[in-house]
Amino acid sequence: MSICSVLGCNNGKRKESCRAKTFFRFPFRYPALVETWIKAIGREHFRPTPSSTLCSDHFEESCFVYQQFTNRRQLKPGSIPTIFNISDPKSTREVHKTREPSTSNET
Ligand SMILES: [Zn+2]
Repeated sequence: MSICSVLGCNNGKRKESCRAKTFFRFPFRYPALVETWIKAIGREHFRPTPSSTLCSDHFEESCFVYQQFTNRRQLKPGSIPTIFNISDPKSTREVHKTREPSTSNET
């Protein structure tokens, strides 16, 4: 099961909602770059396997090249994941809360 290696990101290849996403394997041909990716995703002790992937959510649009005929996304050589705004339901704060019933006597 390929699921994104970024903590908090549950995007997976087989998920219906992830059809439009692309999953990229770690660039094992460039060990230094693999290290950079690991640091970028904040998992110092993470050891990616050949089946570990990162989803396209973590790369800027400028990192992608599109294949001529299939229009499939590919990563430009040397691309580094930079986007990690994972939506965690627990951390999203409601800024505009509905006003609590006033306890003071305003009348
Ligand atoms: Zn992801």
